[in-house]
Amino acid sequence: MTPLLVANWKMHGDKDFVARFARAWRAPPGVDVVICPSWGYLDCAVSAFAGRGVRFGVQTTASEPSGAFTGENAAEMARDLGAAFAVVGHSERRQMFGETDAVVAKKFRAAGRAGLTPILCVGENRTERLAGNAEQVVRGQLDAVARAAGPDALRDAVIAYEPVWAIGTGETATPAQAQSMHAAIRGALPNGGRAARVLYGGSVKAANAARIFAEPDVDGALVGGASLDANEFAAICLAAMASPSATGA
Ligand code: PEP
Repeated sequence: MTPLLVANWKMHGDKDFVARFARAWRAPPGVDVVICPSWGYLDCAVSAFAGRGVRFGVQTTASEPSGAFTGENAAEMARDLGAAFAVVGHSERRQMFGETDAVVAKKFRAAGRAGLTPILCVGENRTERLAGNAEQVVRGQLDAVARAAGPDALRDAVIAYEPVWAIGTGETATPAQAQSMHAAIRGALPNGGRAARVLYGGSVKAANAARIFAEPDVDGALVGGASLDANEFAAICLAAMASPSATGA
């Protein structure tokens, strides 16, 4: 399976950053790359990477297609601006913006309605992991979307397993922890998750990427902090290209 690398630039960057990144970063062949700039720079990123085979995503969307929702941006607008993906249910949205499983499910449906591929983020916090409930929590997050959007909506989904305790902390899940959760996620998806891509997210860097990508159920990564550095992100893409699942080794 072709590995998928998603760069989540969060609320960082400006026009100059986008231009410099596009000049400095080169995508290796054999990987799919999605860049998720902040909404305001989507148009600018689409122009800066034109002809480079990169696709684009937004970090969140509204759940409605249009209307009196001051400050919101619809999935349809993202599509119009050149996005093909939408991150849904990122833990920062869940924690800081009060997005419940029900809201996440609505946004997942909104992305699909607009023709975007949702990248559904799931993951447990530290307390939940220490209590031994990690799988149950992740399963609940998947079920909430399956109930609202129908189980088939997850058949060829992109799921990002992002343990909350590993996001932006420098602490990564061990390859074994990632593999065990990815296998559980895949097993919970229709058709054994054969058509789905399950990404890992949480402090992925050039230095740890190869070990994580060596796991059989890791189909790529959602990269936050390290995706802001063109060389670091290029090295992560290279590690994915050389992974056993990409090379068929
Ligand atoms: C993220 O933003 O989804 C993420 C995984 O961030 P980081 O790579 O910085 O942990």
